[in-house]
Amino acid sequence: MLEKTIFELSSSGREGHALPACDVPVLPLDTLVPAAALRGDLAGLPQVSEIDTVRHFVRLSTLNHHVDKGFYPLGSCTMKYNPKVNEDACRLPGFTGLHPLQDEASCQGALALMHGLGEALREVAGHDAITLQPVAGAHGELTALMMVGAYFRKRGEKRDTILIPDSAHGTNPASATIAGFRSVTIKSNGEGLLDPADLRAHISGQVACVMLTNPNTLGLFERNIVEIARIAHDAGALLYMDGANLNAMMGIVRPGDMGIDLMHFNLHKTFSTPHGGGGPGAGGVSCTAALAPFLPSPVVAERMVDVGSNARAPQYYLDHDRPDSIGRVHSFFGNFLVMVRAYTYIRMMGGRGLRDASVNAIISANYVMRALENDYDLPYKTHCKHECVLSGLRFRDQGVKTLDIAKRLLDYGFHAPTIYFPMIVPEAIMIEPTETESQETLDEFIKTMKRIAQEIKETPELVKTAPHNTPIGRLDDVKAVKQPNLRYGGVCN
Ligand SMILES: *Cc1c(COP(=O)(O)O)cnc(C)c1O
Repeated sequence: MLEKTIFELSSSGREGHALPACDVPVLPLDTLVPAAALRGDLAGLPQVSEIDTVRHFVRLSTLNHHVDKGFYPLGSCTMKYNPKVNEDACRLPGFTGLHPLQDEASCQGALALMHGLGEALREVAGHDAITLQPVAGAHGELTALMMVGAYFRKRGEKRDTILIPDSAHGTNPASATIAGFRSVTIKSNGEGLLDPADLRAHISGQVACVMLTNPNTLGLFERNIVEIARIAHDAGALLYMDGANLNAMMGIVRPGDMGIDLMHFNLHKTFSTPHGGGGPGAGGVSCTAALAPFLPSPVVAERMVDVGSNARAPQYYLDHDRPDSIGRVHSFFGNFLVMVRAYTYIRMMGGRGLRDASVNAIISANYVMRALENDYDLPYKTHCKHECVLSGLRFRDQGVKTLDIAKRLLDYGFHAPTIYFPMIVPEAIMIEPTETESQETLDEFIKTMKRIAQEIKETPELVKTAPHNTPIGRLDDVKAVKQPNLRYGGVCN
């Protein structure tokens, strides 16, 4: 049954609130607000009781899938559970009541938090310096590539090319283009990895940067990373890591130790902030000392000051005195409350906990991959890291596409995996279980995937026309784009 809109639930005179009796003199509104600014008619707000309002929004909250409702194996997106303590912390009035133009002395706590988060992330990365300004992974990529540009300008070198493997996320070449570079694609080899020999064939004095995702989007660790770094560095180029897959390596290996010069974090993925649907993110960038001068301004810095009685204490400030900086990439400080969530998560987990998260994410992905490798195609057979990529290619004969499998999963109460990405795998099904799911949940998902594979053999029409149990059935994607109708029962013109 379709949920009515709150306006359709409205009934004249019904109230959802009770205000105390007015204890100040009542004045006509136009003595307080200029008549020209007053509306002529009533606002037409819905008149609904409190219980009907609560029920309406509770029902709405269950129509869509979300991570608090069920398993969400959306590959590359790290849809781990978002601990509620994060939400508690970021709702503290000391944080929500801050004004971005407050002077430094009055927001030492917030600056200390940003500094502490930066230090923790630097430790995970094995890097010397960091910015938290960028507000998404893609924004971090752009920031980093602008830094790469500034680095070579400072050195008086003209380099205009970025090398990117064909398994990369689409944001990589997009960021390269926006930052003013030309991107050249390198093909993955038969193992799904970047081939050092191929990299050698493409590297030259024109190359500013090699952009690598590790583990890559196939969920495979680029095990030639040390050689790849050497090839890039020998040619005077830098090595960038798209850090979206950091959930596979926290506390196990540090990007800085692998020769990565700079990288971005997706705090909303790895460090547990609710995301998806365009929600706020944070995409900090860490780098080596050589690149630190080019980081966006200001950076949050710490100095020790005298606090009397021979004692010293840290003081935090915004360092604007950075002549080689690429400048601001966002107003004020970036998405501060996302940082509060990430900081809370890191402090709750501790270093050991972060490592355990990565280890368990890897075990979960391999568990799912091995359980399904006979029912679906597995293009790359080796162990995966935190996610695995299967394919629905074998169902082509039945006329069933990966999209149909994804839709059928919705009928069983699961969010669909990522599909058709990475683009080098036809009919790709990219599954990232994350560390927060129990074995029982994974088993239930595996059972359902097997059941769908069986359904395709026996009743393919059932799968091709799915979903059947969701509030809305199969949508016409093309029509939805060409002729969007955002109002239920409304007219589109
Ligand atoms: C998510 C993701 C990005 C982009 O990050 P956003 O925060 O969505 O901008 C880049 N690369 C990979 C591999 C990703 O999974």
